[in-house]
Amino acid sequence: MNLELSEEQSAVRRLAEDFVAREITPHVVDWDRAESVDRSLVKKLGEVGFLGLTVDERYGGSGGDHLAYCLVTEELGRGDSSVRGIVSVSLGLVAKTIAHWGSEEQKQRWLPGLTSGAYVGCFGLTEPGTGSDAGNLTTRAVRDGGDYLIDGTKMFITNGTWADVVLLFARTGGAPGHKGVSAFLVPTDTPGLSRRTVHGKLGLRGQATAELHFENVRVPASAMLAPEGKGFSVAMSALAKGRMSVAAGCVGIAQAALDAAVGYAGEREQFGKPIAHHQLVQELLSDIAVDVDAARLLTWRVADLIDRGRPFATESSTAKLFASEAAVRAANNALQVFGGYGYIDEYPVGKLLRDARVMTLYEGTSQIQKLVIGRALTGVSAF
Ligand SMILES: Cc1cc2nc3c(=O)[nH]c(=O)nc-3n(C[C@H](O)[C@H](O)[C@H](O)COP(=O)(O)OP(=O)(O)OC[C@H]3O[C@@H](n4cnc5c(N)ncnc54)[C@H](O)[C@@H]3O)c2cc1C
Repeated sequence: MNLELSEEQSAVRRLAEDFVAREITPHVVDWDRAESVDRSLVKKLGEVGFLGLTVDERYGGSGGDHLAYCLVTEELGRGDSSVRGIVSVSLGLVAKTIAHWGSEEQKQRWLPGLTSGAYVGCFGLTEPGTGSDAGNLTTRAVRDGGDYLIDGTKMFITNGTWADVVLLFARTGGAPGHKGVSAFLVPTDTPGLSRRTVHGKLGLRGQATAELHFENVRVPASAMLAPEGKGFSVAMSALAKGRMSVAAGCVGIAQAALDAAVGYAGEREQFGKPIAHHQLVQELLSDIAVDVDAARLLTWRVADLIDRGRPFATESSTAKLFASEAAVRAANNALQVFGGYGYIDEYPVGKLLRDARVMTLYEGTSQIQKLVIGRALTGVSAF
């Protein structure tokens, strides 16, 4: 693997840095306090091509490889994880999954809107009663002539109140567990679909997280993505790639923590000299720096494997596990460097810690990543 970025990759990274400095950084504190990112940002993300990375230009995508996608998600994560999550879900979990599994008609119907930012997508897997054990989901889609009728509830859905389309996972037929799950593309204006914002999150406050209710929601059979009963494979393939973008976002959080902590340590004086001169503060900074480097390399390895068409699911779990735990450690260490000032939201590190905390929970908790890695090592599934 060549760790030198190509000219195109360097250009994409610079574009993302400029975008973050111009469109995100000035608003981060306000969006966090208001519990909402400015929705007009989605269109801007589309215009600059960040919602179409790796998607074929025939469907409005902006091409690029998975390392370029990681560079952009890292920069967005450095700027604001709430924004990074919009891209990771609408592009990473929804558009890319349609590009991989969809029929030509489904690609034409949804991809140009999702890649341009005219549409937002959300990923509806988790339910109130099934999180880690997603294969036992209870939302039902029952065949009714040429249609399906959907009933059930989805919980903690990122982009949920903003989305135009839900990539929904529901039980069809009688097969137990994950074998009975199918995937559907459900427009959110379909009668019977209602949404409620989940308020009071510890972090990612700017992100629209929602509970979705389906009551007799009628969709044509053509809304099914991939063959009947393949829904769980669709979900797992989406999450395997999704974990890489979460990991990249975590690298961004850890890098932001490092930049802030180094800057502050050089300015703040105690005992007659900058705190950066105290060896125990240097230890905090070097611990963050090692976490940044290790998380980034693990994440880039996944991108490299995907781009070379090699298996990557275990490596993606490894990167997500390490990078999410590293982001929490890095933000916590940075907060320590800031002392009491780190505890108030005029300084960035408290938000980094709040945002980092969810990364060890969603798209598979740290415990679930360990089970995935353990299964790959032993051949024995603990699920
Ligand atoms: C802000 C936010 C955004 C989210 N966005 C989305 C989204 O867009 N779409 C979506 O579908 N979901 C989303 N989720 C849901 C997320 O993926 C789940 O919260 C996560 O999968 C964990 O499920 P749970 O919360 O039900 O926890 P549980 O599964 O109940 O787990 C609770 C604890 O038990 C542990 N545990 C469970 N099973 C095992 C086991 N077999 N062995 C060891 N330990 C175990 C877990 O690791 C955890 O520590 C989001 C969640 C949050 C908080």
